[in-house]
Amino acid sequence: MHVRRKLIVGNWKMNGGIAALGEVAAVAEAARGAAGAEVAICPPFTLLAAAVTRAGGLVAIGGQDCHWDDSGAHTGSVSAAMLREAGARLVIVGHSERRAEQGETDSLVRSKAERALAYGLQAIVCVGESEAERQAGRAAERVSGQLAGSLPDPGGEGELVVAYEPIWAIGTGRTATPADVAGIHSAIRRSLLDRFGDSGGRIRILYGGSVNSGNAAELFAVPDVDGALVGGASLTAAQFVPIVEAAAHS
Ligand code: PEP
Repeated sequence: MHVRRKLIVGNWKMNGGIAALGEVAAVAEAARGAAGAEVAICPPFTLLAAAVTRAGGLVAIGGQDCHWDDSGAHTGSVSAAMLREAGARLVIVGHSERRAEQGETDSLVRSKAERALAYGLQAIVCVGESEAERQAGRAAERVSGQLAGSLPDPGGEGELVVAYEPIWAIGTGRTATPADVAGIHSAIRRSLLDRFGDSGGRIRILYGGSVNSGNAAELFAVPDVDGALVGGASLTAAQFVPIVEAAAHS
């Protein structure tokens, strides 16, 4: 039985300017007293280096995406190497918004995750079914296909993390029930053990989708929920810190 420390990752998406850096400092201060959980914030690239300074090593700072290449003619992109140099410790790859808006495929997500691991970053690989797939009873099948196609083989210095984010629960205020989450997370765990053997038991599986201070504790009590990827409720310390505290005390 592996002990997996809870990991809470805030995804600011395309939100936040210089004024929002005060929220990073406030979360860092709270994280000092929440040693039971690991805390990270992924701000827009424009704030990354300044956020690293404000986090003071108490909160890990990460990117919301990276390119599969290290450098070159890829206008508008940022590489895992660049993130690492700017002080990032993690990166989210394959978020459903990028899969939908940028047409990212499983194999592209896998290449990005490989580069992230090669540069010693935590690679948070997102998977999750749509509302239509859920209604059709195909959630588990969809997630297992995404895992097979998006997860890299072991390698590099970084840590692989999986985030299960049902698309219908993201930003909607609709959270999957603890029973739904338990079913999918245990299926994810089985597929990690099948593919990676014993080390699959060490990979953290986060839940994401309208997590807030009111539902965090019951989600963290579900077996194989090793933390959360939090969007809207990560934008202010007032909403994010109670989630961190729920994880630290779970
Ligand atoms: C997300 O974007 O990863 C997310 C889970 O968003 P929210 O918490 O707002 O549903």
